[in-house]
Amino acid sequence: MIQLLVDYTQLLLRLTGRRSCPTCGRLYNIHFQPPLVDELCDVDKSKLVIRNDDREEVISGRLTAYETQTRLVADYYRAQRRLVAINADRPMEDVTAQIFGVIDSHCQAGR
Ligand SMILES: [Zn+2]
Repeated sequence: MIQLLVDYTQLLLRLTGRRSCPTCGRLYNIHFQPPLVDELCDVDKSKLVIRNDDREEVISGRLTAYETQTRLVADYYRAQRRLVAINADRPMEDVTAQIFGVIDSHCQAGR
């Protein structure tokens, strides 16, 4: 099991800052990857929207669900030494490369 670790504040900014274009589906984040013009898609100038599951009240529910459900699964795999934790507060390419590295090393170990 691979666990992606993120700072709680960063996580909230990522989730609450997310905006999407209803026309082309492109994703933005008002904190980390804002559009050139406030609230408008760079490609087609549509007004960006907040997805329903990115609203703050939904997010707190998702974080509670993490605490009550996902954490138990992570603890189980950690106890079995089958959990690899990755720092996900880094650029997406770095995180992706690390995930592939973990998968590769496990595939080789199984051969
Ligand atoms: Zn668009």
